[in-house]
Amino acid sequence: SQPKKVCIVGSGNWGSAIAKIIGNNAVENPSKFDPEVNMWVFEEQVNGQKLTEIINTQHENVKYLQGITLPEKVIAVPDVVEASQGADIFIFVLPHQFVKGICEKLKGKIKSTAVAVTLIKGFEVAEGGGIRLISDVIRDSLNIPCAVLMGANIANEVALENYCEATIGCSDTAVLGTELKALFQTAYFRIVVVKDETTVEVCGALKNIVATAAGFTDGLGFKDNTKAAVIRLGLMEMIKFCEVFYPGSKLETFFESCGIADLITTCYGGRNRRVAEAFAKTGKTIAELEQEMLNGQKLQGPPTAYEVNYMLKAKTMEERFPLFTAVHRICTGDLPVKNLMDCLKNHPEHI
Ligand code: NAD
Ligand code: 13P
Repeated sequence: SQPKKVCIVGSGNWGSAIAKIIGNNAVENPSKFDPEVNMWVFEEQVNGQKLTEIINTQHENVKYLQGITLPEKVIAVPDVVEASQGADIFIFVLPHQFVKGICEKLKGKIKSTAVAVTLIKGFEVAEGGGIRLISDVIRDSLNIPCAVLMGANIANEVALENYCEATIGCSDTAVLGTELKALFQTAYFRIVVVKDETTVEVCGALKNIVATAAGFTDGLGFKDNTKAAVIRLGLMEMIKFCEVFYPGSKLETFFESCGIADLITTCYGGRNRRVAEAFAKTGKTIAELEQEMLNGQKLQGPPTAYEVNYMLKAKTMEERFPLFTAVHRICTGDLPVKNLMDCLKNHPEHI
C-alpha cells in the first residue's frame, strides 16, 4: 500500500516534541509513511516574525520548545485545512479547550478513510451535566476512528531523548495499534499498546487534577510523604471515577505508563504542579500565574477540575471525589488552599 501521509494538529510544547519523533520516524520508514509531515501551527508573531516562518527556516519552535531541532521535513502550516490535505493519519495535540473549534474547521474536508490519534489530556463539557471524551469529540465531528496516546511524558525530557514509556489505547490493536506504534516508537520512547482506550484517556485527563493538588501541598510546605498520599488518594479517585462512569475499565491499565507513571512524573515535574505551588505561595489567581509563568503554554489541570466538577455536581456526587472537588473549589477561589489538608485528612479512604 501507499505510504501514509501524517498531519500533526498542534505545535505547542508537547506537539513540537512529538513532531520531532514523528518527523524522524517518517523519514526513516518511507515505505510506511510519507517523509513530509505537515504540522498545523496556530499563527503568532514571535520577535516580529511569523512563527511558521521561523519553524520552516530555523527548524525550531523557538517559543514552545526552545533549543530542539525539528526535522526539516516537518512543515509548519498556519491554515489547518491546508495542513490536513491528503492526510491519512491525524495526530491531535493541542490544549483541550481548542479541540472542538479545530474539528469544526476540518469537518467534511478530510479523507473519509483517515484515522486519528489524540495526545490531548482533558474533557469537553456536554450539555445537560455530562462530559465527553476528547476522542469522542474527534470521532463524532470527523467521523473517523480515534486512538489515544498518553504516558509519563514531560515534553522537554522527551525532546532531549531521555528514556521513557507511553501507552497507546486502541480498540483495533492489530491494525491501527501496530501502525501507530511504528509511527511513534523510538529507541528512547517505548510504547505499549492496549485495547482499553477509554481508561488510557481518562487517566491522562484526571492525573492533571491530582498534579494540581500535589502542587498545592508543595506550596503549603509539605514534603514527600504528603505528596505520596496525594498521589495514592488521587489514584483511588481515578479508579473510582472509571468504575462509576466508564464501566468495563480494566484495573491493569492503571499500571501502564498512562496511569501511575504519568501521575508520578506530573506530580513531581509538571507545569500544573509548578503553577499550583506558586498559587499556594503567592495568592495570585491561576489565570495570572499561567500568564506569568508559562509563556503561552496552557494549564490543563484547573479546567479539567472544572469539567469533572460540572458532571459530579449535576449528579450530586461531589462528596465521593473529595480531592477532585477540592482542587476545583481552590482553583476558583471558593475554598482556601490550606483547607485541602482537611479534605485529605478526612478522605473516605480512611473511614
Ligand atoms: P501548550 O501547553 O504548549 O500550549 C500552547 C499551544 O496552544 C501553542 O501551540 C499555541 O499556539 C496554542 N494555542 C494558543 N491559543 C490557541 C487558540 N486560540 N487556538 C488553538 N491553539 C492555540 O501545548 P502542549 O504542551 O503541546 O499540550 C497539548 C496537549 O498535550 C495538552 O492536552 C497537554 O495536556 C498534553 N500533554 C502535554 C505534555 C507536556 O509536557 N507539555 C505532555 C503530555 C501531554
Ligand atoms: P503538565 O501539563 O502538568 O506539565 O503535565 C505534562 C504531562 O502530561 C506529562 O505526561
